Amino acid sequence: MSGCGSCSACSIGDKAREYINFFGESTVKCPECETEITFKDLPKNNKLTCPSCGAVFKVIRLLLN
Ligand SMILES: [Zn+2]
Repeated sequence: MSGCGSCSACSIGDKAREYINFFGESTVKCPECETEITFKDLPKNNKLTCPSCGAVFKVIRLLLN
């Protein structure tokens, strides 16, 4: 991922935005390797570990139920 590197929007390498996939599941894409990760629940700190590359990143929730 490339960006200007000087604004907050470009420095989200350790964060991923939640979205809803085709099956209606909460999904995020790993900011390191772009692996799609589906989840049902998040820990309180909203952090997930990528099962593919091991990166730890924070999930930006879409929906707050
Ligand atoms: Zn990854």
